[in-house]
Amino acid sequence: MKKKVAILGSTGSIGTQALDVVRDQPEHFEVELLTCGNRVDLLIQQALEFKPNAVVIGDAARLAEVKDALFPKGIKIYAGSDALEQAVTMEGIDLVLTALVGYAGLRPTLAAIGAGKPIALANKETLVVAGELVTKAAREKDVDIYPVDSEHSAIFQCLAGEWHNPIEKIVLTASGGPFRGRTRAELATVTKAQALKHPNWEMGAKITIDSASLMNKGLEAIEAKWLFNLKREQIEIVVHPQSIIHSIVQFRDGSMKAQMGLPDMKLPIQYAMTFPQRLPTTWPRFNFTQYPALTFEQPDLDSFRNLALALEAMDQGGNAPCVLNAANEVAVELFLKEAIGFLEMSDVVAHTLATVPFVAHPTLQDLEASDAEARRVARERTTPAWNS
Ligand code: NAD
Ligand code: MG
Repeated sequence: MKKKVAILGSTGSIGTQALDVVRDQPEHFEVELLTCGNRVDLLIQQALEFKPNAVVIGDAARLAEVKDALFPKGIKIYAGSDALEQAVTMEGIDLVLTALVGYAGLRPTLAAIGAGKPIALANKETLVVAGELVTKAAREKDVDIYPVDSEHSAIFQCLAGEWHNPIEKIVLTASGGPFRGRTRAELATVTKAQALKHPNWEMGAKITIDSASLMNKGLEAIEAKWLFNLKREQIEIVVHPQSIIHSIVQFRDGSMKAQMGLPDMKLPIQYAMTFPQRLPTTWPRFNFTQYPALTFEQPDLDSFRNLALALEAMDQGGNAPCVLNAANEVAVELFLKEAIGFLEMSDVVAHTLATVPFVAHPTLQDLEASDAEARRVARERTTPAWNS
């Protein structure tokens, strides 16, 4: 039986690699639903190749273009975020891969869980914003969430066969990004082009900037907390510039299991889509002699304030991670527009966290209000010099 997959964000970095996996494993997968924000040309090309039952285009203004191309092929076409929430519940879908970026992933993920669909989760922001609500909904519906993020996939792979053994701690590895080793003063002048050049991974723009600022590792710590039910003190972050060890689990007898391999997202994507099975692949293999030194160092929380801010928000809990996420999405957008500098991203996030009222036990409505308020506060000031 082929697994029928829905790929949310099919035109992005994770989405296109997920389709590479589907293309390589045609006897295992069929595409039921493809969705994207506004990359109409690629969505149409993908739909013509993979012949999904339906597509959703986020940007309703582009609906006519998609209809012209795909209606004659018998593909159902919808537009807008409400349609996306409905489409993920379609009867034929066996697995929903959430590969869209940012807060926009939250509602469709909750809708898919509500409909009892297993989730392959790339969209970490969903767990950052609403980890408690999402994991609770998944437990209530008995829905599995398979991590796609490489570190979380590594931990998940290390836990195979260990379900009854408590985790003592996990070690999340971080590449350190393109600015590893720089001082805060040096970071003040780095450019957008430099920030977009990640040493080991090719990813969408938002996560690439988050990796450069180490916000990504903070978001991943929060993601890990919810996925693996961990306390703050059970999460250690270590910089490992070669990105070969994707993360580590330490058990209570002191034993550590690490998952290793060349940095290639196709592996965690495929594992999330086929768990507990591993399918054969022809991807390049890791060779120890080509990497004589695997190195490790402490993250620099003074230079990379975003990581410290994310860990603080995780400690605070409540709506703080939601506020952090919204402020960061605005900050990254402004940095990508070259409206603010690299370090000002942390200023925006810190200012927003200090300004938006804290809610200890937020409902979904509270989180929506916090997200909106945080975006408003973060946008209020796009100039430097409120780093008080
Ligand atoms: P990307 O920017 O390359 O792709 C994002 C996709 O989402 C695109 O298809 C886009 O059209 C769609 N999209 C964007 N906004 C939307 C909206 N409002 N409504 C509907 N669709 C929308 O991003 P990416 O790098 O593929 O990352 C996707 C997610 O996976 C992110 O949450 C990221 O943190 C996570 N992730 C990515 C990688 C990676 O290697 N790229 C690794 C780990 C985790
Ligand atoms: Mg990751």
